Amino acid sequence: MPNKISVKKRIQILKNLLVEIEKNEQNITYALYSDFNKSEAEVFLTEIFFVKSELKKTIKKLPFWLKPKREVSSLLNFPSSDFIYKQPYGKVLIIAPWNYPFQLSFCPMIAAFAAGNSIVLKPSEWVPNTNSVILKIIEKVFEKKYVSVELGGVEKATELLSKRWDYIFFTGSVAVGKIVHQAASKHLTPVTLELGGKNPCIVDETAQIELSAKRIVWGKFINAGQTCIAPDYVLVHEKVKEKFIEALIKYIKLFYGDKVIDSLDYPRIISENHTNRLVKLLEHQQIVFGGEFSIHQKFLEPTIVLEPSFDSPLMHEEIFGPILPIIGYTLYRDLETIISRYEKPLALYYFTTNKTNYSKVIKDFSFGGGVINDTLVHFANSRLPFGGVGQSGLGAYHGVYSIDTFTHKKSVVRRSLRLDVSLRYPPFVLKLKKVRKILNFLSKF
Ligand code: NAD
Repeated sequence: MPNKISVKKRIQILKNLLVEIEKNEQNITYALYSDFNKSEAEVFLTEIFFVKSELKKTIKKLPFWLKPKREVSSLLNFPSSDFIYKQPYGKVLIIAPWNYPFQLSFCPMIAAFAAGNSIVLKPSEWVPNTNSVILKIIEKVFEKKYVSVELGGVEKATELLSKRWDYIFFTGSVAVGKIVHQAASKHLTPVTLELGGKNPCIVDETAQIELSAKRIVWGKFINAGQTCIAPDYVLVHEKVKEKFIEALIKYIKLFYGDKVIDSLDYPRIISENHTNRLVKLLEHQQIVFGGEFSIHQKFLEPTIVLEPSFDSPLMHEEIFGPILPIIGYTLYRDLETIISRYEKPLALYYFTTNKTNYSKVIKDFSFGGGVINDTLVHFANSRLPFGGVGQSGLGAYHGVYSIDTFTHKKSVVRRSLRLDVSLRYPPFVLKLKKVRKILNFLSKF
């Protein structure tokens, strides 16, 4: 059921939410640090600030975003007034991952509620401390019948997916995305799937190498590489490869120091199992930098791998950790050959100073979203829809696109009672020729 709360009241509740988040900033920060050593700066930038920006924007713009939109009427219906109404779907299930657990739970929840839905949120089981704060804030601000939290892992998610929903919003891996899609298809429930994949990052021979390396190190190793839109691998032109690798190493050291394990800004991997998986990806690889790890401390150093084999597991699966494979290329068609080995990525990054080059890349490759000469930052503009394409996702959100995601666009034509053209009514025998002529004429407009 939709929540049936007036827009004005919803805005008041969202304002209360903002107050509650602000009151809990310390708790959120501490919880994320306890879960995987996420630093205060990263928590602020990628979790709290982001959620608060989306929330403030929603509070400000919601009446405008939800206002029925008047459309130009069709001459075929003349005279009429035509409108598009944004109608909440009803009961929404949101399933979230662990890597940005606060942001990826709250942003879709805020939009779904603002749009008029009632919500059940299932956050990830890997972040128990963050979940306690999420639960506390939600229980304080929302009545349970409007927003509730279900804690648990695969079993809980499976139980929730077996129920009937009016909309499902899932963020997570491609493999689980397929399970969610299948469960949703039973009732033809519409879904948004925010998934992952192998995101290419290209550095061509015209790129500004120092700045490119700096921005790539930032985007790859923030959250220890556990970011859906992190560059997965770099394709660098052979002419600048050596210089580029030197610059990468320089910036890793500059950002995280010589002993990364002691850096206050470098998070841990989410679990020992996840660390183990990443360490295994390094087997038989040519490591040119990093590679230090500690399974029980859930630590893996920022690591650069040179020219991995495309048959190795490292180049098969989404890395989702602090390992950066570097692959040299010489011709544009090498880029096409390599990128087309994989499903359409969630993000693509291209570093160049040549406008013709980047225009061609934007036109030639299909990807969820991307950036020229930087990484990740397209995520930060809520005026841009964020989402994947093909196996990297279905649907998009952020800003007004989130409201679009959580509402059905209902078209309503209000016909005038004054004029009623008899040509549309049978019998047509004597008037079909005339009807054809008029319709052909009107369809030109
Ligand atoms: P995941 O798919 O393992 O888990 C996500 C959620 O699904 C969790 O809440 C989990 O409990 C639930 N889940 C796990 N197995 C399930 C099953 N068999 N049936 C039903 N539900 C199940 O993903 P994760 O490890 O939490 O997150 C990492 C993945 O998420 C990466 O692939 C990353 O690229 C992707 N991701 C995408 C975005 C995006 O915005 N596109 C953002 C963050 C993460």
